[in-house]
Amino acid sequence: MTSPVWHPFTQHGLGEPIPLVTRAEGAVLHTADGRRIVDAISSWWVTTHGHAHPRIVAAIREQAETLDQIIFAGWTHEPAEAVARGLRAIMPQELTRVFFSDSGSTSVEVALKMALGYWREHDPARTRILVLEHGYHGDTIGAMSVGARGVFNRAYEPLLFDVGTIPFPRPDREQETLDALEQACVSGAAAFIVEPLVLGAGGMHFYSPDTLREMRAICARHGVLFIADEVMTGWGRTGTLLACEQAGVVPDILCLSKGLTGGAVPLAVTMATEPIFAAHYGPERARMFFHSSSYTANPIACAAARANLLIWEEEPVAERIRLLSERQQLRLDALARHPRVRGARRLGTIAALEIDGDEGYLSDLAPRLLAHFRERDLLLRPLGNTVYVMPPFCIDEADLDRVYAAIAEACDLL
Ligand SMILES: *Cc1c(COP(=O)(O)O)cnc(C)c1O
Repeated sequence: MTSPVWHPFTQHGLGEPIPLVTRAEGAVLHTADGRRIVDAISSWWVTTHGHAHPRIVAAIREQAETLDQIIFAGWTHEPAEAVARGLRAIMPQELTRVFFSDSGSTSVEVALKMALGYWREHDPARTRILVLEHGYHGDTIGAMSVGARGVFNRAYEPLLFDVGTIPFPRPDREQETLDALEQACVSGAAAFIVEPLVLGAGGMHFYSPDTLREMRAICARHGVLFIADEVMTGWGRTGTLLACEQAGVVPDILCLSKGLTGGAVPLAVTMATEPIFAAHYGPERARMFFHSSSYTANPIACAAARANLLIWEEEPVAERIRLLSERQQLRLDALARHPRVRGARRLGTIAALEIDGDEGYLSDLAPRLLAHFRERDLLLRPLGNTVYVMPPFCIDEADLDRVYAAIAEACDLL
């Protein structure tokens, strides 16, 4: 009997094999048929310290036995309080408030609602959201609305709200981006949402800290709220705890998820400055922030996040990130000499490149790459002809070598 499971971003009609994973540790997955798979994309960008980190596992086990779930509207618990305090201690000081939710997409929905809530108090005419071209912020309707439009959301287009799209800051064309942003801000906008330094799902496009800083400054000048979606870039991915750090930028609203629990269980937060909280504060019930979900701040997820914060505090995480960054660069440099490799780039632990080929050929390159890597027991998931490597920080050199050898082989064979 075929499985009744309907998988995300999967065309079941292609009949591609769907491996059954039974166990994971560090940067390695084990399948039911006995294969050892290297997880070179951190199970879709979530796993930071490695799968089944003992401290996170212990925290989950202990919390599950103590307090599994509790309504969070009007109630609280120590794991959530500890995570909020911990985030306050390491995130920019201006971000005084921590709102919990369950996924990157919901953290973005929450950010958009907070921004509109702020403007309801200050200037209700400001409702327009500005976005960066090629952006990705999740797959719920609001998150899709502020993300790039394309084949993946064409069917839902009638439901998506209108936004102002700012062109991506291409190298040497940054001024066009800044001018367009200035123009859009002058015309009046509620908020500008960006992925700082790296646009992930849109194709691992990088841009400079200088541009990020200037974009933030333009928003500040016009009072447009600056929302940093660090769902992917946060937790050390770009070499620093937050990508915003490299530009010395503090957003008005910050979205975090993926690595928040070390990648073990779902959890997200949206952090906000005091004026945004204040716009929802007072004796009137109608001004409260109207957002919740059944599992808001689930204690087990919060316990995992608290363990993640302790790992950051007590283990040499920055050193691991530095080491992985160096190891990625060495291998990327070697690969960049291949005649079919274009645009080799790295920021922190993220390495990316394009595999060259003629257009018609390119159109079916992605599925062929996917099969090539799967046959070599590697979890890599190219974005079109863009191949990227974003492993857990603990991946060892031999496994990283296997990843790069397979990419080089793909350049030769496919
Ligand atoms: C993955 C991602 C999201 C969505 O997070 P989910 O947990 O998959 O809903 C939002 N923003 C960015 C930048 C992401 O990379």
